[in-house]
Amino acid sequence: MKIPTVALVGRPNVGKSTLLNAIMGRKIAITSDKPQTTRNIIQGIYTDNDSQMIFIDTPGIHKPKNRLGKILNKEAYISMDDVDIILFLVDITENLGKGDKFIIEALKAQKAPVFLVVNKVDENTHERVAKTLHMYSKEYDFKEIIPISALRGKNVDTLVNLMIQNLPEGPQFYPEDMITDVQERFIVSEIVREKALRNLRDEVPHGIAVDIIQMKQNEKGTYHIEVDLICEKTSHKGIIIGKNGAVLKKIGETARYEIEKLLNAKVNLKIWVKVRKEWRDNNLLLKELGYK
Ligand code: GDP
Ligand code: MG
Repeated sequence: MKIPTVALVGRPNVGKSTLLNAIMGRKIAITSDKPQTTRNIIQGIYTDNDSQMIFIDTPGIHKPKNRLGKILNKEAYISMDDVDIILFLVDITENLGKGDKFIIEALKAQKAPVFLVVNKVDENTHERVAKTLHMYSKEYDFKEIIPISALRGKNVDTLVNLMIQNLPEGPQFYPEDMITDVQERFIVSEIVREKALRNLRDEVPHGIAVDIIQMKQNEKGTYHIEVDLICEKTSHKGIIIGKNGAVLKKIGETARYEIEKLLNAKVNLKIWVKVRKEWRDNNLLLKELGYK
């Protein structure tokens, strides 16, 4: 028997990563107010006394603009196959639009039960919540409908319990203390990318990637980490470094602080800014950076 799997799907920015983090109680997926910062499928493993489930966070389904976009779309669809539950997340502050209908059509072809999770209810009135639930329930026969606030943790426990009730029983597969099977390296690169996104102007973020060059721990337990921060243009490199290196310094300091918390160890972090033109349309480069 395999360990039960739950897929999170939904338009960019509805709060998938925030929900995953709320369930896992630890930072796994990165969150950002800019859409599509989650590029890879991130797995978290939830374990309590008698149940276990793997979570798959999907990159947002959207109309692809370049090759990377196409790969992201494909991954989102693949991740819905062979799962036990699909959580379809929607944002209460947005109207049911084309993007949601697009996803609902894709859901109709899936065999797993689909839960409608209406997020960000902290932003709205009960009336509006009720209206939205009604609107969506006309589009698809959802197995469960749950209003939540991922950010405030409201109803997250209820959601977890409902999932457990709907999961096929399976033996414990991963050890108790393994919260996530995501390689630490990947999490580290995501943290650096998140800090870069937060510290940069709008024109740069979508064109950056992080590549871990080295990550090792010495006898004293200190990690030495070197990463390439890859951008598309020489002008972007200048922005990333900033006047007297101020921006890069800020990225490095905030990333290091968070990585130290995550690894529970001292960290030396070196960031090299590199320009690789058009990396988002370069297959070889995408492969190198871990996008299959
Ligand atoms: P994703 O693209 O679906 O993974 O969305 P994120 O998890 O990155 O969240 C996008 C934005 O929505 C972030 O700024 C979050 O802080 C915000 N957000 C997520 N959940 C909630 C919520 O329950 N309430 C409110 N008000 N904001 C939320
Ligand atoms: Mg996300």
